[in-house]
Amino acid sequence: MTAWQAGLRGKRVRVLERSNKAGRKILMSGGGRCNFTNLHVTDDNFVCSNPHFVKSALNRYTAWDFIGKVIEHEVPYHERKHGELFCDNKAKDILNILLDECANAGVEISTKSDIKNIKATGNHKYQVSTNQGDLTSDAVVVATGGLSIPSMGTTPFGYDIAKQFGMEVLPLRASLVPYTFDGKLKEVFARLSGNAIEADICFGNKCFSEALLFTHRGLSGPVVLQISNYWVPGQSITINLLPDMSATDLLIDAKHQTPKSVVRTVLYHHLPKSLVLELESLWWFALKDKPLADCSNAQLIKIADHLNGWEIVPAGTEGYKTAEVTLGGVHTDGLSSKTMESKTQPGLYFVGEVVDVTGHLGGFNFQWAWSSGFACGESI
Ligand SMILES: Cc1cc2nc3c(=O)[nH]c(=O)nc-3n(C[C@H](O)[C@H](O)[C@H](O)COP(=O)(O)OP(=O)(O)OC[C@H]3O[C@@H](n4cnc5c(N)ncnc54)[C@H](O)[C@@H]3O)c2cc1C
Repeated sequence: MTAWQAGLRGKRVRVLERSNKAGRKILMSGGGRCNFTNLHVTDDNFVCSNPHFVKSALNRYTAWDFIGKVIEHEVPYHERKHGELFCDNKAKDILNILLDECANAGVEISTKSDIKNIKATGNHKYQVSTNQGDLTSDAVVVATGGLSIPSMGTTPFGYDIAKQFGMEVLPLRASLVPYTFDGKLKEVFARLSGNAIEADICFGNKCFSEALLFTHRGLSGPVVLQISNYWVPGQSITINLLPDMSATDLLIDAKHQTPKSVVRTVLYHHLPKSLVLELESLWWFALKDKPLADCSNAQLIKIADHLNGWEIVPAGTEGYKTAEVTLGGVHTDGLSSKTMESKTQPGLYFVGEVVDVTGHLGGFNFQWAWSSGFACGESI
C-alpha cells in the first residue's frame, strides 16, 4: 500500500521482499478468502498503548476507500457476520489489486531479497544491504509484519531495526491465538474437542460474544482469539456458557415447573449433551441424580453462577505457530501518527503489524495495514 501510494506520487520505489512472492500472508488469510476489511471500523477495534494513535490514519484511509478499490477491480466479495468482508473467490484477488496498482504506479518489486542491515549514512540517506547487493535511498519503510506463522520465515528484523535506531519496542506476544490448558481441564476439553457453542468471554471489562470451540489442547474459536488480544498471562478469563439467559432463572423455574427433572436434563435443551456431562462431573456430581425439588435454591444458584461466570486460568497459548498476529511492537510514541515516520530518525518509517497496533479479529489487521501504509505512502 505504501509503495503503491508513493509510486502514484512519482517516487521511485523498490519493495524488497525476502520470500519468493510478495503478500504471502494475504494468500493464507481468512481461510483463503481474505477478510480484507470490516464495515464497522472504529479505533475501539485496535489494541495499542496509545489508543488515539490509530485515529488519523484510519480516518484518512477508511474501509470504504479500500472497498472502492475492490469494486473498481471487479473483485466479488460478500459480508459475513459482524461486518466482515471476504472475497467470494480467493485471497489472491486482493493481492492482485495491490500488485496491479503497484505495477501501474511504476513500483519495482524484488523478491528473494533478504535485507541484512540498514545504515544511516548521513545527508538523510540510507544504505540497505541485501543478499542481492546494496542500495541507497532517501527513505526506508519497514513493513516486515509480525512473528506469527514462523514456517513462513517471519523475522524479528523490523523490531531489531527500530532498536538499532534507538526506538522503543514494546514486549511482543502471540495474539489472536487459541488457549492451552493443563491437567484436568486439558483432559475435559480434549474429550469435548470438536464441539462448539456460542459463549461470552470476558477479561476485565472487555467482553466478546462469538463461537467457542473445544480443542485437544484447550479452547479456540473466534471468541477465544478476540479475548487473547487483552488477556494477561497467568490471569483468569470468565466464560458465560449461557450468554442469552440467566442460569439461575432457568434452574429455579425448572424446579417449580418440572420438579422431578435433574439439572442435567434441563441443560440438555441449551448445551451439547457431552458438555453438560463434563460440567456435571466438575460442578454438581453429588447432586447428579437428585430431582430439582430436592435441591436447595442455594445449590442451584451455585451451579448457575458457574454456568454464567466460569472463571478459568489458561496455561498459555498455542504461540506464534497458530497465532494470527503479534501483540506489541514499535512503540507509537516514537512515530508520527500522520506519516508513520520515526520522530527521532528522519526518513525511517514503520507501517502495518510491526507497529504496536493490533486489530480485533474481523478484517481490522488488514485495514490497519492499508491505512497506515496509505498514511506513509502519501507523505514519504
Ligand atoms: C493465518 C493468518 C490469517 C490471517 N487472516 C487475516 C484476515 O482474514 N484479516 C485480517 O485483517 N488479518 C488477517 N491476518 C493478519 C494479517 O495477515 C496481518 O496483520 C497483515 O498481513 C500484516 O501486514 P504487514 O504488511 O504489516 O505484514 P506481512 O503481511 O506479514 O508482510 C511482511 C512482509 O515482510 C517480509 N519480510 C520480513 N522480514 C524481511 C526481511 N528481513 N527482508 C525482506 N522482507 C522481509 C515478509 O516475508 C512479508 O512478506 C491473518 C494472519 C494469519 C497468520
